[in-house]
Amino acid sequence: MSTASKEIQALTATQFTTPEKFLKFCQNDGKPHGGIINGQSVRGSMNATFDTIDPGSLETLATICEMGQDEVDAAVIAGQRAFHGNGVNGWRDIPVEEKCALIMKLVELCERDRDALLACEIRDGGKVSELAEGDFAQIRATAEYFCEVAKRIPLGDGSKMQVADNIEGYTYREPWGVVAGIIPWNYPIVLTSWFIFPALLSGNCVLIKPAEDTPLSALYIGKLAEEAGFPPGVINVLPGRGELTGQFMAEHPGIRYISFTGSPGVGQHILRTCDRHGTRMKREMGGNGAAIVLEDADPQAVARMIGRHTNQHFGQTCCTIHRVFVADKIADDFIDAQREFFSELKIGYQADEGTQLGAVINSTQRSRILSAQQDTVTRGGQPILAGGAAEVAGRDGYYIKPAIYRASPDLNCNPAEVFHAFATICPVTDTEQALQLANSTPYGLGASVWTKDISRGVELAKRFRDGTCQVNCHNTIAYGLPYAGQGISGGPGAGVNCEETFTDYTELKAIYVADYPDS
Ligand code: NAD
Repeated sequence: MSTASKEIQALTATQFTTPEKFLKFCQNDGKPHGGIINGQSVRGSMNATFDTIDPGSLETLATICEMGQDEVDAAVIAGQRAFHGNGVNGWRDIPVEEKCALIMKLVELCERDRDALLACEIRDGGKVSELAEGDFAQIRATAEYFCEVAKRIPLGDGSKMQVADNIEGYTYREPWGVVAGIIPWNYPIVLTSWFIFPALLSGNCVLIKPAEDTPLSALYIGKLAEEAGFPPGVINVLPGRGELTGQFMAEHPGIRYISFTGSPGVGQHILRTCDRHGTRMKREMGGNGAAIVLEDADPQAVARMIGRHTNQHFGQTCCTIHRVFVADKIADDFIDAQREFFSELKIGYQADEGTQLGAVINSTQRSRILSAQQDTVTRGGQPILAGGAAEVAGRDGYYIKPAIYRASPDLNCNPAEVFHAFATICPVTDTEQALQLANSTPYGLGASVWTKDISRGVELAKRFRDGTCQVNCHNTIAYGLPYAGQGISGGPGAGVNCEETFTDYTELKAIYVADYPDS
């Protein structure tokens, strides 16, 4: 194997020492963390708390108050008040330059407290530093992109047209008002940024519902927002379980728009719930990513690149590659190289130097993944690496070994998103068959083709049913291009990180004005 392909490694941890600032934040003077509503810390009427833990050590990091129906009501009222102000000076009316200045002030405060926010991702979210640092950089990148978009795309009146002899018509674009972001646990800082910056810059007030496994970064950012000088009620943070706090939000008619990122089943449920009272929604959901490897590809180099993507955040990334279709001719070499890549992964605690595969987020995920591994074998997948529980000396976390299987085109042995370092590798005799198999899933988030023949790769990539189609790369995102799912992986909504994301957070009305009739 060439040295160049050996150099392609999984994302890796550098030693991370938890900063004092994070520990102090977690400790919160010995009190549980309240939600943040109207600029105040709120304990919650349910008098319920939950602990957030480090998944790699099971150490309790902080205790959090769960927000109930009353707090959702209060946050909606606070958001509405902040949105309208006294009719002229609400958040909606603040000039875009002032909104950008406040947002960039928040970004600077996040950068000042970088280590504490990295600790949120590494300790609360279970990430290795190399990934956490990349995620952290998205705070500034998202803010800068959407400030530029907000300055370029005007809200308010569109151009006027004469629609009848005495009637003039035009469009009027305005923010929804109070919008909610329901966030999953796998990319808390990135997904909170992807929600709040376009939503705030288009003039909305926001309710952030972080995942119950990773509430710390949203609470930290909420605290910094107050320091940055956001008016009370513009940014509210409501931690709690999905079936309670999240459900109360989905049922609340005062929330005009919901941005949901999470699993397809929960997204479908929320859409049905909020549709009953006319709340609009955008959804970014899970995938079961595919990669097609053509016969001209270098099996060793591509196996390692695909391995790196499969293992991004230990496979807990929405568009992760879980299904590989590889040309028969190079399949054995490819499988050998994947076996080597995955068996070399250093399993360990996410804050320890050199760790490449850390613990999964919680015990439910652990059981789900282990039963998916068994199910794949029951469905006929042949284990190349059999998975199973892993032990890490001195740590009590939710550790699992990587699992890869050889599959054949007649087997449907990997039908659903597994969310771990897990993949089936299916040798195929022709590319059309590979494409048909890659597309034979209700998901449609991300897929890639690996080949030296770029134009053939592009032609094939365009035929995926996925929202993000890549050639010789995977998991790439760029501001200006939509990141959106097809099938059960997404919609409605235009996806994230593009101009349409900004306009998703606005409603468009038609205005007609007629001359007053002569008496
Ligand atoms: P999840 O669907 O279980 O939870 C997501 C959020 O929804 C959490 O905040 C949860 O508390 C909340 N929730 C749960 N039930 C609810 C209800 N009844 N009403 C309102 N809110 C409710 O997902 P998860 O396990 O946290 O995250 C992993 C999933 O997210 C995977 O499927 C992954 O692929 C997907 N994801 C997609 C993207 C994308 O951009 N497409 C990005 C990241 C993660």
